[in-house]
Amino acid sequence: MALIVQKYGGTSVGTPERILNVARRVIATKDAGNQVVVVVSAMSGATDSLIKLAKEISPNPSERELDVLLSTGEQTTIALTAMAMNSLGCKAVSMTGAQAGIVTDGFHTKAKIANIEPRQIHSHLDDGNVVIVAGFQGETSEGHITTLGRGGSDLTAIAIASAIEADLCQIFTDVDGVYTCDPRIVPTARKIDEICYDEMLEMASSGSKVMQSRSVEFAKKYGVLFEVRSSFNQNPGTLVQEETKDMEHVVVRGLSVEKNQAKVTITNVPDRPGTAARIFTTLATTGVIIDMIVQNVSTAGTTDISFTLNKDELPKVEASLASVIIEIGAAALIATQGVAKLSVVGIGMRSHSGVAAKLFEALSNAGINIQMISTSEIKTAVILDESKITEAANVVHAAFGLDKS
Ligand code: ADP
Ligand code: ASP
Ligand code: MG
Repeated sequence: MALIVQKYGGTSVGTPERILNVARRVIATKDAGNQVVVVVSAMSGATDSLIKLAKEISPNPSERELDVLLSTGEQTTIALTAMAMNSLGCKAVSMTGAQAGIVTDGFHTKAKIANIEPRQIHSHLDDGNVVIVAGFQGETSEGHITTLGRGGSDLTAIAIASAIEADLCQIFTDVDGVYTCDPRIVPTARKIDEICYDEMLEMASSGSKVMQSRSVEFAKKYGVLFEVRSSFNQNPGTLVQEETKDMEHVVVRGLSVEKNQAKVTITNVPDRPGTAARIFTTLATTGVIIDMIVQNVSTAGTTDISFTLNKDELPKVEASLASVIIEIGAAALIATQGVAKLSVVGIGMRSHSGVAAKLFEALSNAGINIQMISTSEIKTAVILDESKITEAANVVHAAFGLDKS
């Protein structure tokens, strides 16, 4: 008998028929002689609707109350899934995050899991139940409801799999696995059979939202092997695991696209110690996440500093830096919206050269201008005009031969 964790995302539980479909799949897994813990998301669109509702009441709702509200999305699904299982003759029990023993810190809307106490889960399993746990939520040690950031049901599944030492963790979604690029952007993208944690982490954190990036970080830290696959068919999915020797032979594993970016350039920054620190310590106090940072070499004693961020954060950044620009004696802050990021990811980049050259050549052949470039050990990323991003992803995908098996 194996202990299996299965997570079903929003689309997979998006209608009553789909919840019944999930229930049948879970029962088949149980009937094959396994113990099953199921983690479910809110029905597709439910979390967005709740956020919209809150904003209609108040433009800046309290984050504590937002968490109380958002957690109801998943709470609806656990009850409906347990009812579906019961109606099909299978013993099942629903549990909120708190009931399942998920203890988090107090950072509302983006809480981190501190600890999982799975006693109740084990007790229900031992009584012959399938246990249905609400994804995306937990509780602080003082008893406040928290949520784990968008896409957080992935994290719930992986953390529970680790806490109960599951034999298998399966993430069921609306695609057959992790693809070489989002198949909605690149129709010729192919399913990847296996990918290592570092590649999955780079792809997830640079826009491939098929997995929440924090969940991949957790899986890497605790060595949780997991599989991403479809809830609509029986096709084998993508295995996400420790790196193996063979994996380095593939230079580029996949591409990620991140839209809704903005670029900020501060011009004529005096070239002396402390100016970059002054700019970025101010930004840090706003809590805005800054992505790429580029500083040019200084000419005539001044330099330009550019960085990127999510475009929704631009007003906060402009407001916070207005006085800093004057204080440090820089010339201006130029903000550009309508840019997007394309990232090329693969652990093979550590041992192969020429990736940047091939990327830039493919973009040049398509007449697409590169606005910024950044690299890490296993990633090369460029900022482009957002209107060109789909074309760019498709030509780069083809240039690296990712559409061929
Ligand atoms: P769920 O609700 O099951 O958590 P998500 O919407 O969070 O599902 O993730 C699945 C979606 O992720 C897919 O429909 C796909 O459009 C998108 N996606 C982005 N990048 C990739 C990728 N590299 N491979 C597969 N899907 C991707
Ligand atoms: N329902 C939450 C969201 O939409 C969590 C999840 O689906 O994983 O972000
Ligand atoms: Mg998701």
